[in-house]
Amino acid sequence: MRVPYVDFAGQYAAERRSLLSVVDRALAGGEMVLGREVSAFEKDFARLCRTKHAIGVANGTDALILTLKALWIGPGDEVITAPNSFVASAAAVALAGATPVFADIEADQLLSARTVEKALTPRTKAVIPVHLTGRVCEMDGLMALARARGLAVIEDAAQAVGAEDRGRRAGSFGRAACFSFHPLKNLNAAGDAGAITTSDDGLAERLRLLRNHGLKSRNEVLFWGYNSRLDALQAAILRARLKGLSKVVAARRKNAELYRKGLADVVECPKDRPGCKDVYHLFVIQCDRRDELQAHLKRRGVSTAVHYPTPIHLQAPAAALGCKKGDFPEAERQSARILSLPVHQLLSAAQIGFVVRSIREFYGR
Ligand SMILES: *Cc1c(COP(=O)(O)O)cnc(C)c1O
Repeated sequence: MRVPYVDFAGQYAAERRSLLSVVDRALAGGEMVLGREVSAFEKDFARLCRTKHAIGVANGTDALILTLKALWIGPGDEVITAPNSFVASAAAVALAGATPVFADIEADQLLSARTVEKALTPRTKAVIPVHLTGRVCEMDGLMALARARGLAVIEDAAQAVGAEDRGRRAGSFGRAACFSFHPLKNLNAAGDAGAITTSDDGLAERLRLLRNHGLKSRNEVLFWGYNSRLDALQAAILRARLKGLSKVVAARRKNAELYRKGLADVVECPKDRPGCKDVYHLFVIQCDRRDELQAHLKRRGVSTAVHYPTPIHLQAPAAALGCKKGDFPEAERQSARILSLPVHQLLSAAQIGFVVRSIREFYGR
């Protein structure tokens, strides 16, 4: 049996007619960048995240850079983030001119107030908690710490669109939150796209200017800005797919539950937490002999991935920050044990069952 990690062709086949009609509408509308399609998507997306504003941008990395810039974070400032995230969480800080600082993670792969507190210095200006895999970080503790120390909280919600913790949505906790709609994300565009959510009117206004050359009107520039706008075509596709997001999340959660039932006695599975709705952008197990297991699954036709094999603090550009092996033991320990199983919405129960049996077979259970 073949179990693909992603299935873009399958996704498109199921939505071809509706997508072609919205693409036709967007192209006929005559606005290619920003415009009505983008405004309509921003409204829908803010409603989903339960925030006042959403600002469409070119990708998730730009969402982070623009947010840092709009909060006046730059040279001399430190921003704390997770060493086990996708590289963009830290790169955005450096590209904004500030210094990325890492804090270790908990057993559940996430930053917490406990670990962030150890990384604070008088220069700390912000924290970027990463809702990695699609589960919201323990935000009560992080927000309390940020309030006490006067720090801005910028959620990296790139993997967590639609995730909830006790009725609150990812993207609605911090001063702002950054989303990616890269093709691999749960809510995906047909190319690169991203958004920022916030309920701060002034910040939203600065972000709208920053993404578009600082242009207040066609010929009036208020400050140096970027070209990081969302395309009308991508917005139209995202708006159509947004309508099906709850089904995507339900299917991924069902797949996660099947994995848990079949594997919890063999490998460490992410637990379903009461009151939370994790969206399983990734289903990450932690296991012994990870590389051998991955090779075994590959031979069985099961595609898996590792997010991410090298923690950011051990990547080449982090050496200049003084980072070294041993700095974040939990992130390093997990990096050798994590394996992302296919969990996408188009998988059948039979396919999940096959993955479960193949893993049990590997461990002789
Ligand atoms: C995908 C991702 C990003 C970057 O988003 P892009 O749209 O690819 O620029 C940032 N942070 C995390 C955690 C991600 O998964």
